[in-house]
Amino acid sequence: MKKEYAVIGLGRFGGSICKELSKEGLEVLAIDLDEDKVNEYKEIASHAVIADSTDETVLRELGIRNIDHVIVAIGDNIQASLLTTVILEELGIKKITVKAQNDYHEKILSKIGADHVIHPERDMGKRIAHNIMSNNILDY
Ligand code: ATP
Repeated sequence: MKKEYAVIGLGRFGGSICKELSKEGLEVLAIDLDEDKVNEYKEIASHAVIADSTDETVLRELGIRNIDHVIVAIGDNIQASLLTTVILEELGIKKITVKAQNDYHEKILSKIGADHVIHPERDMGKRIAHNIMSNNILDY
């Protein structure tokens, strides 16, 4: 059976993940609190719903337990990101990827059951620094 994904939080980061997965023809459930964001993804994702991911009942009703991989891309609201991750872990989601806002957030996420923690700005900074260094070596 085809793998199913859910993206919670449709900011620049979550939105981009949602678009790329959908472009590859994968099943994506897009979730956000914000109606405008959800409307933006109605035509892109397989399903787009307005929901608060900190509400366990709502997540259950959405059938989140059938999803293979959930990406939590809530940025600024660290409390909501942590609570969402705990709920997903308790619901037995097999793979949870979470965007971290800072090092403390990242540490807690790893402790509470996130399988993969991403820190996009830092990770991209590292990658670019290495690209710059390798270009310098080539330039030399
Ligand atoms: P970007 O990815 O654009 O840099 P960001 O990291 O600043 O964004 P936010 O804008 O804080 O992230 O959050 C991303 C999205 O998560 C927003 O669209 C927001 O509406 C959504 N969001 C925040 N809390 C919840 C929640 N409890 N349930 C569902 N969606 C939420």
